[in-house]
Amino acid sequence: MYYSNGNYEAFARPEKPVDVDKKSAYLVGAGLGSLAAACFLVRDGQMKGERVHILEELSLPGGACDGIHDSDKGFIIRGGREMEDHFECLWDLFRSIPSLEIEGVSVLDEFYWLNKKDPNFSLMRATVNRGEDAHTDGKFALSEKASLEIVKLFFTRNEDLYDKKITDVFTEDFFASNFWLYWRTMFAFEDWHSALEMKLYIQRFIHHIGGLPDFSALKFTKYNQYESLILPMMKYLQSHGVHFQYDMTVTNVVFDIQGNKKVAKQMVCRRAGKEEYIDLTEDDLVFVTNGSCTENSALGDHHRAAEFNRSTGGCWELWRNIAKQDPSFGRPDKFCTNTEATNWESATVTTLDDRIPPYIEKICKRDPFSGKVVTGGIVSVKDSKWLMSYTLNRQPHFKEQPKDQLVVWVYGLFTDVPGDYVKKPMRECTGEEITMEWLYHLGVPEHEIADMAANSARCIPTMMPYITSFFMPRTAGDRPKVVPDGCVNFAFIGQFADTVRDTVFTTEYSVRTAMEAVYTLLNVDRGVPEVFGSCYDVRVLLDSTSKMMDGKKLTDLKLPLIMNLIEKQALKKVSGTVIEDLLKRYNII
Ligand SMILES: Cc1cc2nc3c(=O)[nH]c(=O)nc-3n(C[C@H](O)[C@H](O)[C@H](O)COP(=O)(O)OP(=O)(O)OC[C@H]3O[C@@H](n4cnc5c(N)ncnc54)[C@H](O)[C@@H]3O)c2cc1C
Repeated sequence: MYYSNGNYEAFARPEKPVDVDKKSAYLVGAGLGSLAAACFLVRDGQMKGERVHILEELSLPGGACDGIHDSDKGFIIRGGREMEDHFECLWDLFRSIPSLEIEGVSVLDEFYWLNKKDPNFSLMRATVNRGEDAHTDGKFALSEKASLEIVKLFFTRNEDLYDKKITDVFTEDFFASNFWLYWRTMFAFEDWHSALEMKLYIQRFIHHIGGLPDFSALKFTKYNQYESLILPMMKYLQSHGVHFQYDMTVTNVVFDIQGNKKVAKQMVCRRAGKEEYIDLTEDDLVFVTNGSCTENSALGDHHRAAEFNRSTGGCWELWRNIAKQDPSFGRPDKFCTNTEATNWESATVTTLDDRIPPYIEKICKRDPFSGKVVTGGIVSVKDSKWLMSYTLNRQPHFKEQPKDQLVVWVYGLFTDVPGDYVKKPMRECTGEEITMEWLYHLGVPEHEIADMAANSARCIPTMMPYITSFFMPRTAGDRPKVVPDGCVNFAFIGQFADTVRDTVFTTEYSVRTAMEAVYTLLNVDRGVPEVFGSCYDVRVLLDSTSKMMDGKKLTDLKLPLIMNLIEKQALKKVSGTVIEDLLKRYNII
């Protein structure tokens, strides 16, 4: 497996790998990562679909990438996926998956046209005082000290950030900025999360710094991602004869380890309370999604809080059983043993009549029923004790959604503190109570809140004990490599497999690790698109520096005398050169 960039490799098709007709594949989990791996096996590895077996513990595919219309509870989204144009592996995949919406075009074409015609941007990024504009006004409000802390983190080596927390690299100046408000609500970072992950995010999305305050950096699918991404993949895979087994939990993969050679030789599974075994040869390739951010997620309903299930579920047990066999298989406990640090809660609110929509319209400053962008990304409630944010994607968000209803996604980063209106921690609240707290922050008059929450909305809370488990501080070897050293027929995929430079909590990461795994184990002779190299592009660095300083020029900064002299000297040296042109073009001088 090697990385590439540019059009030459992007448009080329690989030759059929030698011996692929002798091989089979077993994929544990039917989340985006496994489905992507199956698509790459079929498309690029040219493996026959009937030789690909997907084993899933639940009774439906999609994993974390959801969107469910439950006939009893109603519409449920545990999350929504912010996406961007440089999800290189994901778009490489979806250019080949037929759209279910528009005949004869790909999912990529459908997405591209939609986001061209109806670009995403927000008209109200944050509120205070119950629905008033917080007037962050596109500004990062970073002090010079805080800006320098970001620059320092950007240039810090990965190894110097092992096991460090965000609080280890930033001071109060940074935490008081709009930058941190935007950042932590958009990406769900908390103070105690990994400084390394924070750095990787800054580098990975440096080209989007300018589009961060108003979300013009983001793109979204037409419907929820189950309908817009997972179902098209399912249809593609089923048309190729890929085999799915649901309600099947894989409890172990047993290895034969001789010297440095590691061969997966048996899978241990449990179905309907009985153990089953799948014997493997070196021609049987195994792909395991180790760890899941939605493991043990639990739904409540309008009248019941969601259970906080702290036990370790099937995915962690499987990874633990594998990890016991060799140090190169990683350390799952680093990620799954502190649910107080890794949980948060979301809730899906469906409006049932015409009482709530005017309050939404006042905030998003658009007609929420227009079918076009509504809030354009999350609206964060700056003074919410739960640190609540909410969003309305283009409506309908479900194909089956009645035209007069709106589906809203609400989430709170702090689930253990009482709210501002409902004096209970979010994790103890029913759907109705979460709706009350949300209506309070929307600015609904207090005397109307209880009645509206009871009769004008239905809300399904979802508690996710492991939702940010991949953000826990980590060191080398905590995450296993996609293909651990010496493995001939085994790969880890998904958010807890280690690949260079890319960032977790993204759909792209699952697809990338899937592509790398398939290309490595099948020896597919085509480059995997490298992570977009914007952090090595001087134009992007200059542009983002200027934007991060809210348009201030370097020459406007109050520097110590010695730095001032150095700056003057340097500017004299570059005067009349292309460097001066660049610095001027990107508003640095
Ligand atoms: C609330 C939320 C918000 C998100 N926001 C964004 C976003 O803004 N942008 C973005 O790009 N991404 C976002 N994501 C992330 C993205 O959806 C996930 O990273 C991605 O879908 C993970 O896919 P996966 O296949 O790697 O893992 P999963 O989807 O977790 O799949 C793992 C699968 O394996 C199954 N499984 C586990 N253990 C076993 C076992 N022992 N035997 C059999 N089956 C097993 C599970 O049931 C599951 O189906 C978000 C996710 C959530 C939940």
